[in-house]
Amino acid sequence: MQTGRRELKCTAGSNSIYIDAYGDVYPCLFYPLKLGNIKQDTLENIYKSPQAHLVREKIGKLECPQCWVECEVYREINKIEAVLGSFTSQRSS
Ligand code: SF4
Repeated sequence: MQTGRRELKCTAGSNSIYIDAYGDVYPCLFYPLKLGNIKQDTLENIYKSPQAHLVREKIGKLECPQCWVECEVYREINKIEAVLGSFTSQRSS
């Protein structure tokens, strides 16, 4: 079902990153905006870079491919007890 709204925000680029086989760093597997390369810079510098701040801002505004992958979903569900409680009460009724 497509509602056009997202209940849980994606925190890719903040709580997780994707590093490809060449060391290129992306906020996630699907967002093609390179943040840096771990062979040329530290992960801390890449995380704190203006490019990374911009990407996190764009993800917060849903200016990304807006997928919904399991690795991001599980992380957010586990952080928000209200959602988890709602989910478990629906299953038991
Ligand atoms: S919603 Fe999907 S494409 Fe957008 S940042 Fe999160 S994992 Fe990447």
